[in-house]
Amino acid sequence: MIDNLPKFKYHPNLYNLGIVKFKNGICNCCGKITNAYIQNMYTSEEIDCICLKCVSNGEASKKFDGEFVQDAEKISDKDKIDELFRRTPGYISWQGEHWLACCDDYCEYIGTVGISELNEMNISEEVFKEFDNSGLSSDFCESLKKDGSPCGYLFRCLHCGKYRIWIDAV
Ligand SMILES: [Zn+2]
Ligand SMILES: [Zn+2]
Repeated sequence: MIDNLPKFKYHPNLYNLGIVKFKNGICNCCGKITNAYIQNMYTSEEIDCICLKCVSNGEASKKFDGEFVQDAEKISDKDKIDELFRRTPGYISWQGEHWLACCDDYCEYIGTVGISELNEMNISEEVFKEFDNSGLSSDFCESLKKDGSPCGYLFRCLHCGKYRIWIDAV
């Protein structure tokens, strides 16, 4: 089933992160029956079902004058900004998306992580060194929990391969 769904450059694991509902619904945008949809969009309209095709082709963003991502780091390419905000689903977080960038492009979003996932991947040092408030105490870093609070959101640069992390909490 997933084979027929659109792919998203900045969201390679989209279909495994609990963001997409695999249920029958009627897309608020195209009006067609769908069995895979998202429920969240930043718009003043009431929406609860947008099929992935209407996300990826920009139709939902146009029709509801909305975006799927709350916030992101700055990059210069307007097409890429449009692709992320208006044609890429958001991700699940406590405080809303804060999409990280690197090499003047958005990173791909890998998923939520805690300290054990980071240690397993052997990248804790790399990502904590990079994190904005690098004055992070080791206690704080150790307290990161996948889908807990504080929670880590892991990204990887599509160009240089560097891992970066964003952290938020309830
Ligand atoms: Zn649709
Ligand atoms: Zn990079």
